[in-house]
Amino acid sequence: FFVVFEGGEGAGKSTQSVKLAAWLKLRGYEAVLTREPGATELGMRIRSLVLDPAPNTGSGDRAPGPRAEALLFAADRAQHVDKVIRPALERGAVVVSDRYIDSSIAYQGSGRALGKNEVAWVSTWATGGLKPDLTVLLDVEPTAGLHRAKAGGDGDRLEQEELEYHQKVRETFLQLAAADAHRYLVIEAGGTPDEIAAKVREAVAERLDI
Ligand code: C5P
Repeated sequence: FFVVFEGGEGAGKSTQSVKLAAWLKLRGYEAVLTREPGATELGMRIRSLVLDPAPNTGSGDRAPGPRAEALLFAADRAQHVDKVIRPALERGAVVVSDRYIDSSIAYQGSGRALGKNEVAWVSTWATGGLKPDLTVLLDVEPTAGLHRAKAGGDGDRLEQEELEYHQKVRETFLQLAAADAHRYLVIEAGGTPDEIAAKVREAVAERLDI
């Protein structure tokens, strides 16, 4: 069983993935807690290539452009599925991932205007078509989410994107959820972490039939 948390900056995805994995372990499941970008050693290198590129030297071409960024995230995901997610699912574990394909559709497809279908196609190829059984969207209004994320120390990087970019990202997550209501659970991220965790557990328990 494969569960993914999606949402913008400061939505509480990492807190909720940790809580869900801990609960699954208490219920006797092997829970594999993972995240994108950067779950594998190669992925960590890709993550820093994209998110902390060293200062540009003379030519100014060190930081990835939009298409290079999309392909780097897709390469991270290919390695993640191949080395972590698929092997875990094959041995019967429950995989809980902080972000997956829909982040690319929202950030690169919509935020960077590369086209949602094209970006979805690249990720489908990269993952061999592996889809989550449940995607939990923690929906947060970007001004509130960015405020929380910056307080968490991600300020410099997040400062570089316009609010409009994050609004497009949020809108796309909501559209993806509306288009696939069976797979998606949308939770308004304003509740307390425990309230949100209870809603997530309920949805997971129902699907795992426990
Ligand atoms: O979830 P986490 O904060 O670790 O993600 C790091 C950053 O990578 C996010 O702030 C997000 O802006 C960016 N990201 C992205 N495209 C993806 C996944 C993450 O731009 N497909």
